[in-house]
Amino acid sequence: MNIDQKEKDQVECLLCPRHCLISLGAFGFCKVRTNKRGQIVLAEPVKLSSITLDPVIKKPLRRFWPEMNILSIGFWGCNMLCPYCQNHNISHPDSITMDTYGKVHSPEEICQLAVDLKDKNNIGLAFTYNEPLTSFEYVLRTAKLIKEQGLKTVVVTNGNFSDWAIKELAPYIDAWNIDLKSINSEYYKSLLGDLETVKSNIEYLARISHVEITNLILTGENDSLEEMEALSSWLASIDQDIPLHISRSFPHWLRRDLTPPSLEKMISLVETAQKHLNYVYTGNF
Ligand code: SF4
Repeated sequence: MNIDQKEKDQVECLLCPRHCLISLGAFGFCKVRTNKRGQIVLAEPVKLSSITLDPVIKKPLRRFWPEMNILSIGFWGCNMLCPYCQNHNISHPDSITMDTYGKVHSPEEICQLAVDLKDKNNIGLAFTYNEPLTSFEYVLRTAKLIKEQGLKTVVVTNGNFSDWAIKELAPYIDAWNIDLKSINSEYYKSLLGDLETVKSNIEYLARISHVEITNLILTGENDSLEEMEALSSWLASIDQDIPLHISRSFPHWLRRDLTPPSLEKMISLVETAQKHLNYVYTGNF
């Protein structure tokens, strides 16, 4: 195959800002989207990494049915690369792990399970654990089924997705927890994400549905009071009632060198955010 033919066989995935060029039969960066006969599709069968009934506050969501439970599913793969990822075994897995431990369940089966769990205080279904929106088509189809049953839907995401995808999914999602990892675009680039995309999705979704934000604090990287001032005042410019979860990082995966932020630092960050926002919570204590 000459170079021109090879380029012709590549198709661009437009689901997220990475815009991977994928050759026939190959996979994009997230490891779950593939070029099948010239079309970018979600690889089938779709495999789940986890299915659990969780407290809603564990998503974390504190101002959306916090006393109830929610059936929570995760897939495999991610479109960003955070070297401290707490879930790297499912976000950046090898293909043997995915094949061996992945569970195949149709959207209809997951929907029926959510209905069956209503007597266990289940309010619906959360897409969470890895970056669920790389499995966009499965999420969209399942969310529609869940809504037909009158149940609630939740997405926990890095928010680093194209606006057409967010707008297509938004009518079927009741609540979102979106990671805002920093307000610094260079920091986002170092994690292979795009700050402006995430900010624009937060702005759009906060106006039409329930949104809570998680900001994971890493010592020496995104923990300055100036950055928290900028981040929380930007959120307040959208809505002062957006809940912000300021979460403490711990050494993990490729960043075993990390020092967890001190209690004093976390308190200072919370006090800074509280100058702008009405609901500020801490996580990972
Ligand atoms: S969703 Fe996956 S395949 Fe598509 S552009 Fe993003 S990382 Fe690449």
